[in-house]
Amino acid sequence: MRILITNDDGIYSEGLWKLAEALSEIGQVSVVAPDRNLSGAGTAMTLISIIRADKFASPLSGVEAYAVQGTPSDCVVLGMKTLFNSPFDVVASGINQGANIGMDVLISGTVGGALRGYFNGVPSMAVSSAYRDKQEIRYELAAEVARELARSLRDRNVTEPMLLNVNVPDQERASIECLDVTNLGPVAYIEEVETGQDGIRTHYWVRHRRPADIDVPSGTDVWAVRNGRISITPLDILGGNQCSSSTVEALARDVRGAFNL
Ligand code: MN
Repeated sequence: MRILITNDDGIYSEGLWKLAEALSEIGQVSVVAPDRNLSGAGTAMTLISIIRADKFASPLSGVEAYAVQGTPSDCVVLGMKTLFNSPFDVVASGINQGANIGMDVLISGTVGGALRGYFNGVPSMAVSSAYRDKQEIRYELAAEVARELARSLRDRNVTEPMLLNVNVPDQERASIECLDVTNLGPVAYIEEVETGQDGIRTHYWVRHRRPADIDVPSGTDVWAVRNGRISITPLDILGGNQCSSSTVEALARDVRGAFNL
């Protein structure tokens, strides 16, 4: 199985290489990622200027990598259509620094990269890890979940296009409650704008603030991650029949089995 990996935190992000390392156990991995942090890039694509892609010295042997002056979507397009000789079977995006849940998936570059794989006809996953302390993100746990999901896609020979948004709570593996197939929760970050002065000009910084812990229904990704559960949300952009729920349930069952959940 050939796996294309991207992210939105950029080519130097620890989570990207943790994902690449884990998925190398399942298939032949190639990495194409933005040359800088593009969190919040969503589904954006570069259509009005050229894009450069430079070979990147991969820390993993046998893994070819490119750093792109473009968005996660640009990376997946270049990866799938131009930079490599043979087609990819799976696209994986992440591991993002922080959960991508609720309405915020619409601005997530992690999800945006995976969306481009889905649009190009392959099973695709966005993988994110929640955190409380930015210095202690549990990339390993998220990487293991991604690895088991990829293993299940491979062993079940799943080829139907799907977009799976995977979020892992900030907990020890031993304290993970379960793995749920979820819907998006009705929660989004709140924006705040900080204003500052630099020299004679004014600048603005749009900051994201977590909304208060309002009640959210069980069965949603927000509820799952808050309650110590791994969340897999099939994002069905066209509102039906893009991927069968029985396939997603089978994949989820395999991952639960691998973790004894
Ligand atoms: Mn990010």
